[in-house]
Amino acid sequence: MRTVDQHLAEILGAVPLLPPLELKLLEAEGGVLAEPVAAPVPLPPFDNSAMDGYAVVASDVAGATEADPVALPVIGDIAAGDSGVTAIRPGLTARIMTGAPLPGGADAVIPVEWTDGGTANVLITRPAPSGHYIRRAGEDVVAGQVVAAEGTRLGAAQLGMLASCGRSRVHVRPKPRVVVLSTGNELREPGSELSPGQIWDSNSFMLTAAVAEAGGVGYRQATVGDEPDRVMETLEDQLMRADALITSGGVSMGARDVVKEVLTGAGTVKFHKVAMRPGKPQGFGLLEGTPIFTLPGNPVSAYVSFQVFVRPALRAMQGLPPDPLPTVTAVLGADLASPAGLRQYVRGRLSFGGGAYSVVPAEGQGSHQLGSLSSANALVVLPEDAEKVPAGSRVEVWRLPS
Ligand code: AMP
Ligand code: MG
Repeated sequence: MRTVDQHLAEILGAVPLLPPLELKLLEAEGGVLAEPVAAPVPLPPFDNSAMDGYAVVASDVAGATEADPVALPVIGDIAAGDSGVTAIRPGLTARIMTGAPLPGGADAVIPVEWTDGGTANVLITRPAPSGHYIRRAGEDVVAGQVVAAEGTRLGAAQLGMLASCGRSRVHVRPKPRVVVLSTGNELREPGSELSPGQIWDSNSFMLTAAVAEAGGVGYRQATVGDEPDRVMETLEDQLMRADALITSGGVSMGARDVVKEVLTGAGTVKFHKVAMRPGKPQGFGLLEGTPIFTLPGNPVSAYVSFQVFVRPALRAMQGLPPDPLPTVTAVLGADLASPAGLRQYVRGRLSFGGGAYSVVPAEGQGSHQLGSLSSANALVVLPEDAEKVPAGSRVEVWRLPS
């Protein structure tokens, strides 16, 4: 029996780093930058108006009040996208829109709300200091500044930043493509009729979605039975398109443990008992250089194993730190018992109130009880040395993706 930490360390030491690709910006979503990106120009690139209003010489309107407004002739309109050739001189103003280039000679913008909105002549009722409502060139980012470091995962804000720097393509370590395969003669496709002894395959759907939640791209394979040749053929076919493979089922101590049977001795794959509950039977290794995670078939075991081992490994393959799920400390709402020597992952409901998190264990903790997992939002992580954990204890809790 090995510990969770030992098994995870072996996995993290073995998974390859995905090679960088040059991708179009939107295809790079969820990828991890393999180059630093610097701004080629200052941002904003030119001084522009922060408001819809009037570009003025600030000293012209220094004395403006409601009772005694300053009247200025309006020489024209400057819209966002105009070339920036318009200029004013003291005693004149130009109507200006948000994002439009500031005309030469102006040093403040008076918002339209402080005026009568005039188009030929405008009455201005409040003064503004020099620089007012002007967005200066380079005040967001200076030219040459690194706006996204190597190793940054590209989410919405980061992609927006790269686009605003004019980038159409970037070098990223892409999202890992992960093929998911359920094994088991008892499994049928959801939507089909069940005969006695059969169940609908849930794991391949759950794990394919879990891959996406973890930042990968999941590909669900149609379920295969417990027939060794079929399982091996399917895995070999999938090696071509996969950065990693996940199987469920067929790795415990039964008479028909097909995954164990066909993968023992294949590549570097090894099977272990890991000191955890749920999820004791685990297998991992490289098959022609591609990581394969053979997870147990019980749905809760498969799910927990994914979060404990596969999620950090997929992150590591993109060059990200192999962090666990977001973790909080919470006050336990009921007594728990934990088997000595095993790390236990208890399904629960986490809530926040009165300035603290609290967590209530779910009713069904059996590794087949997907019902209690699907209504849980957290896993309480009880360390190997915990045996009796009374209500009121402070415990480590992983928030599940929702
Ligand atoms: P195994 O690990 O193959 O011995 O399966 C352990 C338990 O999990 C058995 O009760 C299986 O029927 C169940 N199981 C295995 N694979 C799946 C699956 N893909 N969907 C739902 N249950 C499964
Ligand atoms: Mg099975």
